[in-house]
Amino acid sequence: MLSKTLVIASLLALLSTLSHAEDSGRFLVVEPEVQSSALRSYANRLQSSGVLQAVTRSLNQRWMLPTDIRIRLTECDESNAYYDAEQREVQMCIELVEDMASTLDGQFEEESFEADALSGAFVGMLLHEVGHALVDVLEIPITGREEDAVDQLSAWILIESGEADAVLGAAATYYGDDNGVGAEDFADEHSLNSQRYFNMVCWVYGSDADNRQDLIDTWELPQARAEQCADEYALLKRSWNRLLRGHMRTTTAQNLAINAPHLPLPHTSTAADDRSAPKPRHDDNGQ
Ligand SMILES: [Zn+2]
Repeated sequence: MLSKTLVIASLLALLSTLSHAEDSGRFLVVEPEVQSSALRSYANRLQSSGVLQAVTRSLNQRWMLPTDIRIRLTECDESNAYYDAEQREVQMCIELVEDMASTLDGQFEEESFEADALSGAFVGMLLHEVGHALVDVLEIPITGREEDAVDQLSAWILIESGEADAVLGAAATYYGDDNGVGAEDFADEHSLNSQRYFNMVCWVYGSDADNRQDLIDTWELPQARAEQCADEYALLKRSWNRLLRGHMRTTTAQNLAINAPHLPLPHTSTAADDRSAPKPRHDDNGQ
């Protein structure tokens, strides 16, 4: 018969093995993949700005991973972002930044707000793709549309990090872009851009309704939706907390601020004036 001590020692050894397996991976920023010389210098500026590294550092302080997930700036020939499940790699298209900057151009009265919104939108999209990666490697159960769920995850991380304005930056890239939608858009795995806009504004409002009347007044959040947003945010916060609780590095309070530096702008101001204003495309094909 096994002694109690032996049983306990065996259990502890098993637990240690399991927790080691769970904690054997990291988010890693890897070198940009760029072919054209036109994008190379901007890719280098983006990479050396430290934005990816700041987000990665913050994520690695939060969660244990069973495997590495790489994060890479990539030349894609389109404005997009992906999570490649086979490669376990988040790919942020360099062209996405220019597209986001173009969409945000003129939405804010002050230029500095526009720069803040661009940084927020980029980090928000990165966290959306990170969400796909977490769903994959942690086998997180999702019902409903994964695209909506990882929009929630991105917003929740930012809001709980004290960076709700970054969520508004992300929302602004989806503002007013549903003219001419058709069957392909309705059938798409993503919600329509306007729905993603109002979702994000709603979650920020719901996280601090007493102090965010501006989201109703100037961000056009309808009163009828606004009334539900506190409950909606509380539910998504509880859900993501529970879904990720078993993977937390620690359950004690910690400084979760991401503090990403500003994104370098893709153009000089002269070049920016010459930009046409293409419709934004946010059809990131999450796995
Ligand atoms: Zn996605």
